[in-house]
Amino acid sequence: MLIAPEKLQKVVEVILMGGGSSAEEAELVAWHLVRANLTGHDSHGVGMVPAYVVIQHMDLLKPNTSVTLVKDDGAILRFDGGRGYGQIVARQAMEQTIARAKETGVALMSLANAHHIGRVGTYGEQALKAGMVSIHFANVVDHSPLVAPHRGTDSRFGTNPICIAVPGGDKTDDILLDMATSKVALGKVRVAMNKGEEVEPDTLLDKTGQPTTDPSVMFDEPRGALLAIGAHKGYGLAFMAEVLAGVLTGGGTIQPGNERHNSIINHMLAIVIDPTRLGDRDWMRSEIDAMVDYFKASPEQVAGEPVLSPGDPERISEAERRTNGIPIDDTTWGEILEVAKANGLSAEQVEEIVG
Ligand code: NAD
Repeated sequence: MLIAPEKLQKVVEVILMGGGSSAEEAELVAWHLVRANLTGHDSHGVGMVPAYVVIQHMDLLKPNTSVTLVKDDGAILRFDGGRGYGQIVARQAMEQTIARAKETGVALMSLANAHHIGRVGTYGEQALKAGMVSIHFANVVDHSPLVAPHRGTDSRFGTNPICIAVPGGDKTDDILLDMATSKVALGKVRVAMNKGEEVEPDTLLDKTGQPTTDPSVMFDEPRGALLAIGAHKGYGLAFMAEVLAGVLTGGGTIQPGNERHNSIINHMLAIVIDPTRLGDRDWMRSEIDAMVDYFKASPEQVAGEPVLSPGDPERISEAERRTNGIPIDDTTWGEILEVAKANGLSAEQVEEIVG
């Protein structure tokens, strides 16, 4: 199925309002999820709605919760998300941190206890919109681990995303690196399973710790494990994201002494920097233009596959999907109809919105 973004957003909005979210919350969460689909990250798009509804029914996700500023300490702002929608509380925390960075030049945001914050790049985009640089580290707790440590054979930590956003130049687009530290996000494995596809080799271990391309190993018990990017180096980044997001925010790490209720909680540490406080913006812009030009002039290894900057694949996807619609596989659509029902909407009502 190909669904127009506005229609998909409407479907998500009515489902979330059926779960008690205010119209404003439903609109913002739906916008975030559809934006993840538009940018090509189906793993963090509307396919998350079924999990959110189930978790909310377990009372582990609290609709209509705003972020709490726990400590206002100069350039350091500590927030608690109160298990509210991450798309809301992380956005609110970022808003305040960006405002503070405009005063102080740099601000550190510590956000604990947000329900799934979704596509972290969205918060990088928030910083970019304000002309800021941002750096984000998150960990994932309150559910079982997914990723094997380097040299290990079973899962011990989450897909711990890292994001870095830097405003572009006069000729170049903004640069947005936004990645899981696992080779693939779990949602991408779910999407592959729903489509009946295999995953790339060297991505997964089965329950015995052997390499496999079968996505179902992540959804059977005992579960397999995702592999981290870049062997010991990617593992090192994931390890440090766990420390920065789990320890420094006070939220806690995935170690088993901390309770796991089977929801998805993200803690995030973010640094927002006003680049104008570091130097001349005109020079920075022209330097970025020259640097990106230089990188992109590297001859293609495969014809038709030019060098890209981080953030380009998302722009390419968005242009294509705004024109052609967002692909939703049958399994995901079936799950969405199912949770719509749980929130009081019939399949006919949902299908009427989609048309
Ligand atoms: P990905 O592998 O598709 O892309 C990662 C990054 O690489 C992106 O910044 C992209 O622009 C860049 N990129 C891709 N191809 C490129 C190329 N040829 N040249 C230059 N740059 C290129 O993304 P992912 O690692 O699967 O992550 C998907 C999403 O999942 C992200 O939005 C991330 O924030 C999100 N995520 C969230 C959580 C959470 O707990 N909330 C956990 C893990 C991941």
